[in-house]
Amino acid sequence: MANFSKRTQMVHGGIRRSQYGELSEAMFMTQAFVYPNAEAAEARFVKAGEDEFIYARYGNPTNRMFEDRLAMLEGTEDAFACTSGMAAVNGALMALTKAGDHVVSSRALFGSCLYILEEVLARFGVEITLVDGTDNAAWEAAIRPDTRLVFFESISNPTLEVVDMAHVVSLAHAVGALVVADNAMVTPVYSYAAKMGADLVVYSTTKHVDGQGRMLGGAICGSRELIRGPIEAYMKHTGGAINPFAAWTHLKALETIDLRVRAQSDSALKVVEALSGHEKLSFVNYPTHPSHPQYDLAIAQAPSAGTVLAFEVKGGKEACFTFLNALEIFIISNNFADAKSIATHPATTTHQRLPQDQKDLLGISDGLVRLSVGLEDPSDLIGDLMQALDRV
Ligand SMILES: *Cc1c(COP(=O)(O)O)cnc(C)c1O
Repeated sequence: MANFSKRTQMVHGGIRRSQYGELSEAMFMTQAFVYPNAEAAEARFVKAGEDEFIYARYGNPTNRMFEDRLAMLEGTEDAFACTSGMAAVNGALMALTKAGDHVVSSRALFGSCLYILEEVLARFGVEITLVDGTDNAAWEAAIRPDTRLVFFESISNPTLEVVDMAHVVSLAHAVGALVVADNAMVTPVYSYAAKMGADLVVYSTTKHVDGQGRMLGGAICGSRELIRGPIEAYMKHTGGAINPFAAWTHLKALETIDLRVRAQSDSALKVVEALSGHEKLSFVNYPTHPSHPQYDLAIAQAPSAGTVLAFEVKGGKEACFTFLNALEIFIISNNFADAKSIATHPATTTHQRLPQDQKDLLGISDGLVRLSVGLEDPSDLIGDLMQALDRV
């Protein structure tokens, strides 16, 4: 498959056909595997071969097909598929740190990621330093000779801050620290994380991989040494492996991810262009639009910032809710990256629990809306946004 483009790899990559020669990937709904005799069981526990499985918590042929196909998309040697994006983040961070280690992370993080750093790792004696992810000097000041791991969201949710990946990776690698990038917003289609040297790339596959609102899932992508070493050991013993039904759904979804994410991202840019300068909005935020303060960096890293944008409705919460309640196509939900377009009010939902000073620091105002652009006709979406803004 290596000679073919990613779009072709996403249709055929990683496939393992059974003796029945099925066209579609098979879903192996089995907890355990059986052996022809006691000697074969013993041999497999000594060392399982490429296509030999023991127990679904350790691995499963459907999971393996999904892992191989996703690793092809990311451009890494291997991947481990997890029950959710948070299982993946937790696995990557817990498997690679120990008491006394120092971790540096960007501050603009998904709330549950912040919980793992500040509540879980800190409880086990890992020292955490949080920095403004857009400030290269802050990274430089925070990363020390004893820093073991660096973590960030490549593009942050919901404020779309962009991390200068090459800069942060070079600072981290200079002191021997591993780099873990949470790439949910960037999407696996436009990902540059592995190419730019991130050691592990973590996905909530709930987002663009499934992309159709069905299955929770996650994945950790990286070198075979890390994935089949500390990551697999931690995940298989702590019960974080994806279930085969979710892996199968994700595997089929990878067949269409290139078409979906490119179409949704093209529509997102059209929406940004239509909304830019609108009198009811104080700003529109999309990293690969020239109006974004980090446009030069964003466009150098990827041709598109993906399917999500943000903007601020003038007039605070009341004006913002009037706008949200007037939408006819956009659905009010906390999810993103779905085929159905979604509008989110982070201040009262996903980020409700953050103290006000943290909201202020991150720019999560009462007027902020996060839009996830789906697969509908973009002219319908723009019409919907315009009629809802007229009501404000
Ligand atoms: C959604 C999300 C997660 C968590 O993923 P789940 O699949 O919901 O567990 C982690 N990080 C980011 C940036 C996300 O957007």
